[in-house]
Amino acid sequence: MTLFEKIIAREIPADIVYEDDLAIAFRDIHPQAPVHLLIIPRKPIPRVGAATEDDAPLLGHLLLVAGKIAREQGFDGTDQGFRVVINHGRHGGETVPHLHVHLLSGRDLAWPPG
Ligand code: 5GP
Repeated sequence: MTLFEKIIAREIPADIVYEDDLAIAFRDIHPQAPVHLLIIPRKPIPRVGAATEDDAPLLGHLLLVAGKIAREQGFDGTDQGFRVVINHGRHGGETVPHLHVHLLSGRDLAWPPG
């Protein structure tokens, strides 16, 4: 069982800010911005490149959840805004093998990333 499956199962505590039948979102334990949430599918897809055509609605859902949280928390305006990030594999910076969308906001984020 991955770390994030344990969070879904409430075996490890997390600050959960959103959940529905397909996904949950919680605060990253090492935030890289004033708002740093992880949106994950309940289905344990290891990483985005391991998703299949069958997962297309679920992948779309994760992005819709990001937008919904941003709207609800009031940082979706273009003057503020946010960034979504998915890390895949070593070069991408993946450290937990359960697909997760980072949702970052609350400060100016540099581009290109480091
Ligand atoms: P990745 O590096 O795989 O893209 O992102 C994994 C993220 O999970 C990291 O930003 C890391 O801080 C976060 N993380 C690792 N362990 C825990 C944990 O036990 N609880 C929470 N809430 N976040 C975690």
